[in-house]
Amino acid sequence: MNRLLSLSKVPVLTGFWRHYSVPTTKMFIDGEFVESKAKSWIELHNPANNELVTRVPKCTEAEMNSAVDSCQTAFESWRKTTVLTRQSLMFELQRLIKRDMKKLAENITLEQGKTLADAHGDVMRGLQVVEHCCSITSLQLGETMPGIAKDMDTHTYRVPLGVTAGITPFNFPAMIPLWMFPLSLVCGNTMLLKPSERDPGACMLLMGLLQEAGFPKGVVNVIHGAQEAVTFICDNPQIRAISFVGSDRAGQYIYERGSKSGKRVQCNMGAKNHGVILPDANKAQTIQSLIGAAFGAAGQRCMALSTAILVGEARNWLPEIVARAKELRVGPGTEPGADLGPVISPEAKARTLSLVESGISEGADCVLDGRGLVVKGYEKGNFVGPTILTKVTPSMECYREEIFGPVLLCLEADTLEDAIQLINSNPYGNGTAIFTNSGAAARKFTEEIDVGQVGVNVPIPVPLPMFSFTGSRGSFRGDQNFYGKHGVHFYTQLKTVTQLWRSEDAVTSASATAMPVMR
Ligand code: NAD
Repeated sequence: MNRLLSLSKVPVLTGFWRHYSVPTTKMFIDGEFVESKAKSWIELHNPANNELVTRVPKCTEAEMNSAVDSCQTAFESWRKTTVLTRQSLMFELQRLIKRDMKKLAENITLEQGKTLADAHGDVMRGLQVVEHCCSITSLQLGETMPGIAKDMDTHTYRVPLGVTAGITPFNFPAMIPLWMFPLSLVCGNTMLLKPSERDPGACMLLMGLLQEAGFPKGVVNVIHGAQEAVTFICDNPQIRAISFVGSDRAGQYIYERGSKSGKRVQCNMGAKNHGVILPDANKAQTIQSLIGAAFGAAGQRCMALSTAILVGEARNWLPEIVARAKELRVGPGTEPGADLGPVISPEAKARTLSLVESGISEGADCVLDGRGLVVKGYEKGNFVGPTILTKVTPSMECYREEIFGPVLLCLEADTLEDAIQLINSNPYGNGTAIFTNSGAAARKFTEEIDVGQVGVNVPIPVPLPMFSFTGSRGSFRGDQNFYGKHGVHFYTQLKTVTQLWRSEDAVTSASATAMPVMR
């Protein structure tokens, strides 16, 4: 059994007491895994069979306060550690994540449902951020200018903010916490994390690795809960900055409330990513890419390519797109060979089905229908088979809403200009891709498209951590993006020191009252 979960001693397995035989997810406070005294708990079910996995506390006010206090106390000494100490701890964390990759991936599949191969990818993309953090010795360099006036020099340093907070979504239980706490820590901050209450297990395993790597106690504290915990973070005066990834609703709330209380806030939010398919594209390669990016992770990726725009003759590719999607194998993430697993919850399944239904009732054709899919042996799982709607128009609800399920919407356009206009009219700006063999068409697209992350023959253009994650418009609020150079800027503030060191005999006798111009 997971060492971060514990069975209570109560042996009775029925009625009220049945709950107490289920493991609980701990908090991570001041370097220790601690049982919450919460009165209210959230049940976490395995999405493949809906069996109860653990109970996640809605932490009490006192617990949340003690977590922030621990971050604040730890900050006082952590900020004074040398950059080489922070770097070497990060190297150790990187080694341990690699060692426990399988364990982390298994936990993700258990709690989130994605396939084991995809769960490895989840950890891997987070690990790459940790690896990038290991180059903090050059990332956090400041600027200097000697001799800006006689005997006077100016230095600008990037200094940490203090206590930062991270609020994460369910769909990447390892990667997204890893976008946040390693970079915050390596810049000299501490962090209060509130992972998704729907799958906090991977985050807790990462805390075990942080402890094993030798990070001082209190540099990261983890609390659990839902909206109340988020509101606590937005309002707490000790917290200086909030990193959030999740839905529009929560992101807007956090941005408004956190900014209002004087915090720096970065929010990555929802998406509707379009793939434009030109008829000159490499057909086989394009269809493979589209299908993988639309249905991988059961469509539960913020960069899922959920909307295809078939331009001109490319509309004739539909039968092959459908045929390829039909070949995908749906099953529990633990099943070798499964291409996609279940969606996160029965509610997410019901919402997906209802958006498909709304599309059909508004005039779309359902050319591949995965709504009735039952996986043998996993009849209670939240499975939806790959589903494709054609004849979709921008006014339909299924187009306006982010579905976040294994549903591909197909629209048609006569020209590339029409496709660009369609995408630029959509409020989201997370990601988009064009498939073509024409350099001129690709160049026109990349230049005119108003979306923050663009792929050319690359279906999911998520930048590696030496760059930043640059979703734009409705998909982002804030002005410094996640990870890369912008991530370092988010977690640091500038301090500029101007120094005059003049020998005794050069000291002037008169006081200057006019504004110094330093010439
Ligand atoms: P969610 O907003 O429901 O949850 C995210 C976090 O916010 C959780 O920790 C949750 O406890 C908290 N939360 C939920 N509702 C809240 C509310 N009303 N007020 C305050 N806090 C609240 O998101 P999710 O369903 O876990 O994740 C899926 C969403 O995240 C999708 O919209 C997806 O596009 C988005 N996402 C975006 C990116 C990106 O980088 N743009 C990456 C991953 C996921």
